[in-house]
Amino acid sequence: MKRRQFIKKSSIVTVGACAMPVTSSVNELPTPFRIIHLTDCHVDTKGVAETGLRRALEKINNLDKKPDFILNGGDAIFDAMEATKGDAKAQWSLWHSVLKNNNSLPIHACIGNHDIYGWGSLDNPTKSNIMSGKQWAMDELGMKKRYYSFDHNDWHFVVLDSVQFQDKGYTVELDEEQWEWLEKDLTASKDKFTCILSHVPLLSFCHQLFKIGQDGKLITLPQGILMNSQPLEIKNLIYQHPQVKLCIAGHLHMQEEIEYLNVKYLCNGAVCGNWWKGAFQEFEPAFTIIDLFPDGTSKHEWVTY
Ligand SMILES: [Zn+2]
Repeated sequence: MKRRQFIKKSSIVTVGACAMPVTSSVNELPTPFRIIHLTDCHVDTKGVAETGLRRALEKINNLDKKPDFILNGGDAIFDAMEATKGDAKAQWSLWHSVLKNNNSLPIHACIGNHDIYGWGSLDNPTKSNIMSGKQWAMDELGMKKRYYSFDHNDWHFVVLDSVQFQDKGYTVELDEEQWEWLEKDLTASKDKFTCILSHVPLLSFCHQLFKIGQDGKLITLPQGILMNSQPLEIKNLIYQHPQVKLCIAGHLHMQEEIEYLNVKYLCNGAVCGNWWKGAFQEFEPAFTIIDLFPDGTSKHEWVTY
């Protein structure tokens, strides 16, 4: 199936699933507000990433309806986990310069695995050196806490820290402290529709198709790399909080929409596509427009640029 057809088909599914009217006669419709999910930009210093991100931001600036803010879904830079300090600094400095010149929207960020410095060479991991790699990313991304929430109009937004240190790398889970906070936060915000942002999908189908070997066969990666490793706990928690309507993530550089137990789970495409080498599998470089309605429904569009 061609990508254009896929998007068309997918948007029909979205409309049907949310019972949103298809027509543009907005008279009887509640007014939504618009946000942008910009994820997996993977900015490096080789030039193509800089041009690409500028082009994506220009397209966002020229949208017919102005977004209220951007959700930066993580993996803003190419990679800090294996990089030298100088290289990580150069990537962050380019990230800031592109945003300074091409973006005027507020940004709420979450941490991606590639934003975290030094974990790839941590021989003697301690609580302090594990956290300092993450703290650097938080400082660059303007984050006071590694997970947090905020309200905007009729919606509550929860931003999770899905990546935790494991064996010179990472595993995807919510640590105990964060889990406790999340339960409290969802209990305290029952009166608002809720959108949860995480770098790595909480639930996903397409992660099963992520890695294809040179022989064209699927390679299965260990649990906790491509999707959250606590799917049952996540499903149960969200089920107890029916105000949660939308969960969005990136990380896979693939696009999917899952409707499960009245919650929409979106894995949105990467701004960098195949790490700035064209499309990743069937998925061109893209960002996502999301319109959020006061009745808890939402509509999204994957936009190539
Ligand atoms: Zn990632």
